[in-house]
Amino acid sequence: MVLSEMKYNVPKVEKGYAGQTLYVNVGTGEIKAKPVDQKMKDTFTGGKGFDLWLMWNALPKDRAIKWDEPENEICISGGPLAGTTVYPGSGKSIVTAISPLTGIPVDCNVGGYFGPFLKFSGWDALEVQGKAKNECIIVIDGDAGSVKIEDGAGLPSESHLVAEILTERYGKENRATVSVVSAGPGAEHTLMGCLNFSWYDPKSGYVRYKQAGRGGTGTVFRNKKVKAMVCKYSGQVSGANHPADEKALAEVGRQHTTEILELDPKQNEMRQIGTAHLPPIMNQFDLLPTKNFQYGSHPDAKNIDNEVFRSLYTHGRNDGCWKGCSVACAHGVDNHVLKSGPWKGKKVPVDGPEYETIAGCGSNLGIFDPHWIIEYNFYCDTYGIDTISFGTGLAFVMECYERGLIDKKATGGLDLKFGNAEAAAEVLHQMAKGEGFGVVVGQGIHKMKEIFAKKYGADPKLMQDIGMEMKGLEYSEYVTKESLAQQGGYGMALKGPQHDEAWLIFIDMVRNQIPTFEQKAEALHWFPMWRTWFGLNGLCKLPWNDIVPEDNNRDKEPAKVMKHVTWYSKFFSAVTGKKSEPDDLIKMSERVYNFQRIFNLRMGKGTRQFDEPVPYRSMGPVTKEEYESRAERYDKQLKEKIGIDSAGKTTEEKMKITRKFREEQYHKLVDAAYQRRGWTNNGVPTLAKINELGIDFPDVVELVKKNQ
Ligand code: SF4
Repeated sequence: MVLSEMKYNVPKVEKGYAGQTLYVNVGTGEIKAKPVDQKMKDTFTGGKGFDLWLMWNALPKDRAIKWDEPENEICISGGPLAGTTVYPGSGKSIVTAISPLTGIPVDCNVGGYFGPFLKFSGWDALEVQGKAKNECIIVIDGDAGSVKIEDGAGLPSESHLVAEILTERYGKENRATVSVVSAGPGAEHTLMGCLNFSWYDPKSGYVRYKQAGRGGTGTVFRNKKVKAMVCKYSGQVSGANHPADEKALAEVGRQHTTEILELDPKQNEMRQIGTAHLPPIMNQFDLLPTKNFQYGSHPDAKNIDNEVFRSLYTHGRNDGCWKGCSVACAHGVDNHVLKSGPWKGKKVPVDGPEYETIAGCGSNLGIFDPHWIIEYNFYCDTYGIDTISFGTGLAFVMECYERGLIDKKATGGLDLKFGNAEAAAEVLHQMAKGEGFGVVVGQGIHKMKEIFAKKYGADPKLMQDIGMEMKGLEYSEYVTKESLAQQGGYGMALKGPQHDEAWLIFIDMVRNQIPTFEQKAEALHWFPMWRTWFGLNGLCKLPWNDIVPEDNNRDKEPAKVMKHVTWYSKFFSAVTGKKSEPDDLIKMSERVYNFQRIFNLRMGKGTRQFDEPVPYRSMGPVTKEEYESRAERYDKQLKEKIGIDSAGKTTEEKMKITRKFREEQYHKLVDAAYQRRGWTNNGVPTLAKINELGIDFPDVVELVKKNQ
């Protein structure tokens, strides 16, 4: 049944832009188009920039809303380069919402075909507001030129079912013309719900999907009673951006594609094993989170390494999450036989696992069985639960349980020791059903700390040290104890500790290329600004630095992979017609990055107190066992970095000195990073900075002035 409908003329996309955005209110049934003007393009570029600008204007100005108010929005935008088929990694959608976990904007960069199809259907961005009375679906038909809100009653919640059904229903004659966005029952019953973005893969015959994982966008989606969104587009996709300079685009796309095809087999083998190449590297450098980030390596890590997943992944199909991605890293396991839950015994295809899931749901839980990791991957996705928040959250629970902060009374009888794979699966199924201890775990670490302290008298100080969350978001899966720059990369990340903003561990810890505070601060400026740019344009960052030119190491700053940055500036110029150099790309990001920081301020969380302190587990050894497991390293540092002889000192004394030193270092790092970014000592962009960036809108100026 159609509840509401708008017909429209599908505009031709020109130089990467459709020229309008789509607004859908599932509460009132209102559907309308909003124009995109030159100022919006110049200031916000697209993707995350458009999403944030739309949200900024749509949320009530007089108060910081709660995530579950109808005014909260889900915004989705590709960006001007999204949908390009001749440049690798160009099919991403960027999703934003006020996060249930953090109360500030969260942004996720996700593959699948929805973002490109949305734009080719005539929309640079989509904002969904309101709260429906009953289950509904939103159907955008770029062939017919219509947007409908339809009755969603009778559809299952689980993503693997709903995506199949709707792909079949709306793409009967050609399923590859449909992309579905859905969440799942876990998104309904937890605060860490993710969104699944689908595409139909004719080679495997499956509907596959990728996740907008972080911060609970799926929870907002289900709270609005949206069961799914469908975008149908069967027109030509190649060339559909109508680039300003087709020849220049083809040339730069060819260069990057050729390099990937030539060098990937000699470097990370992304085409064969994707990010599963990472576990052995992380294990080797003591960076693989193990048992709630206590340790960075484990002898059993060999059971979940690259070779294990190479043998488990299904090979020989098209593994790109958008057309033309020559990195094609989106691997999966067909025919996994489920060992638990409602579909126990059934054979299912699973997309993934990727590195974050292997580490988060594997080593960090003390589980080194790849089949259980694949199982959690399947259920997290179809239930609509973020594998990172699930893994890091449950790792915290397991440590609390082993240290006696909570017991079986709290867990509903589950023996949640590290390594208990069956119990971990049971928690996941409870989270999907909204039952038992799963309800507590689904609230995330920030809320669990309060619950455990209040109900079970657990020590709040110890939980602050071992609970790996900042701003309410769970850490992604890297041990940062020996990289001060990455402690800042996580601690100062706008949306909370996710590595897509800055990943500085190798240049800082392994290669020691940024030893001073000034150099670390410079890295904490350049890398977040650069990485933000992918989210403005609907791009994947993997082709930038997961395969690098053969002579890259001869470069002055190899981590920046400047040859590729230059290619990206040519890519942008060729599509949009706006002549751009690498520094112009950084400026585009700086505008949106500062704007997002000010958005945090508007939501009451944009100052220094939300960037520090970070949980001490991310900085150094919280417990005696942690210190003693690496005593040689820490004793050496006491001597060389702090100037103290460890002889005759107890472990506790040495830990105290180490902690004081590391916390001071972090504090100084924040000072230096704020200064480099043009922010006050309290972490607020200065008036001069917002003027320079051209984001000095009256309400922005007023907010910034109030907080100088
Ligand atoms: S590199 Fe991988 S994740 Fe990125 S666009 Fe290509 S297939 Fe998707």
